[in-house]
Amino acid sequence: MDSRLLGWGGRKWRWTAKFALLACLILSLRPAFAGPRPSPSAKNANQAITSKARLTLRVYNYAGIDSASLASSEKVASAIFASLGVGTDWVDCPASRRKVRAYPTCNSDMGTTDLVLRILPRPMAVKLHHSNDSLGFAQTCSESEPACELNVFYDRIDELATKGYRADRILGYVIAHEVAHVLIGPAHSDEGIMRGEWTSPDLQHISLGLSLNFSTDQSRKLRLAVLRRAATPAQEDLIQANLIPR
Ligand SMILES: [Zn+2]
Repeated sequence: MDSRLLGWGGRKWRWTAKFALLACLILSLRPAFAGPRPSPSAKNANQAITSKARLTLRVYNYAGIDSASLASSEKVASAIFASLGVGTDWVDCPASRRKVRAYPTCNSDMGTTDLVLRILPRPMAVKLHHSNDSLGFAQTCSESEPACELNVFYDRIDELATKGYRADRILGYVIAHEVAHVLIGPAHSDEGIMRGEWTSPDLQHISLGLSLNFSTDQSRKLRLAVLRRAATPAQEDLIQANLIPR
């Protein structure tokens, strides 16, 4: 082919082709640099949240954590429960009795899907005489009991923060761990969120934004426990008979 035929039009075509190829390469590389996306299973679980599978936590922030950090922790815990198909609502409640009137929602009657989360500073935690290593504890609570309580010892989380761990994320995981105790009892497992004592790699994992999980069996039990707490006696029979989804 006569090279003159390429002329400006030919050079232009070659540059256009090179540019198109470069654009394709950039576009094909972009997902590798994009932020984390929910896994398909998490997305499906999120879609499976029903209005029935919901918990409401009334939060008493006695430790005085700043609102942005607390919101971040609640978001972490919400994401953990969303992956199980359980929704969570958070209600700020007053840390002082003098402010009770300013929080009317916190004075309303509570049901079995309403939990009380108390985030305690050291002076309050000490009075409970609990194990020095523990990050929190939960009340043993039957499924028919309203207003079950979980407590977090925030000074111990603060201590972990001085070692470089992310306090907001650890608090989110401690809340999820203690909520699970309320819902499915005191048992621990050898790994994951329900490990009795998180190891340094666990804490690093949490701090880096990677997830510790509930086991498949724990996940199923947790979702069923929330549905049972929300169900009327007639609905509970249907859940038992597998006639409404868990
Ligand atoms: Zn525990």
